Amino acid sequence: CGIIGAVGRGSDTLDVLVHGLSKLEYRGYDSAGVALASDSIDVCKKAGELDELRTALEGRSVAGSVGIGHTRWSTHGPPTDANAHPHQDCSGDVAVVHNGIIENYQELRDELASAGHTFRSDTDTEVVPHLVEDELRGGADPEAAVRAALSRLEGSYAVAVVIAGVERIFAARNDSPLVLGISDDAYYLASDVPAFRDHTDRVVYMNDGEFAALDAGGWTVTTLDGEPVEKPVDTVDWDP
Ligand code: GLU
Repeated sequence: CGIIGAVGRGSDTLDVLVHGLSKLEYRGYDSAGVALASDSIDVCKKAGELDELRTALEGRSVAGSVGIGHTRWSTHGPPTDANAHPHQDCSGDVAVVHNGIIENYQELRDELASAGHTFRSDTDTEVVPHLVEDELRGGADPEAAVRAALSRLEGSYAVAVVIAGVERIFAARNDSPLVLGISDDAYYLASDVPAFRDHTDRVVYMNDGEFAALDAGGWTVTTLDGEPVEKPVDTVDWDP
């Protein structure tokens, strides 16, 4: 029931994600996971407490300077490692975290399965990476692929997407909270400010129907269709 993302933190990225997830624990969760993107994507995810994820991470190297993380409050499928987020496409080149419920997931899943996609979880969320994969295969550039995939969804979501070889995070919201964190050389996104408050006090609150792209050089917010949106940068006045 929480999302975190970070770009621009170099080799600190994994620590920033796990710290952010610990600050979102108060929201309740039954599983947790992270994905770090470089030329490929590393995912580590576990049912249970955040300590289960920490233990799993000790045994392996998860590297990448663009990352997303998730604490899950199951709605579709029991709390298992396979159902924990992030979820990936068939190629493993797309990873997605999601809070909310995709109402039309069964229809999308049937369509994708008929087109040859293999599903590895029971979640509603898993349709998203497969939809992005289809768009990429069809020749869309990464941002267009994510926009097109999200435009197929009905329901509630705060979602963040990373793609292998793309040093950006794409995110959007509809009926689930999402806020950006702005600092001088790194950018964050989360369900709630405490997830990144130790790194910055500057925030941009996303509204329903908005789409964000973050990279190490900056951030943009548009509508899902690509119309620019003027977003104020607010300063939170409480201490971490
Ligand atoms: N519906 C998704 C799932 O069951 C996301 C749940 C959440 O908001 O954490 O995995």
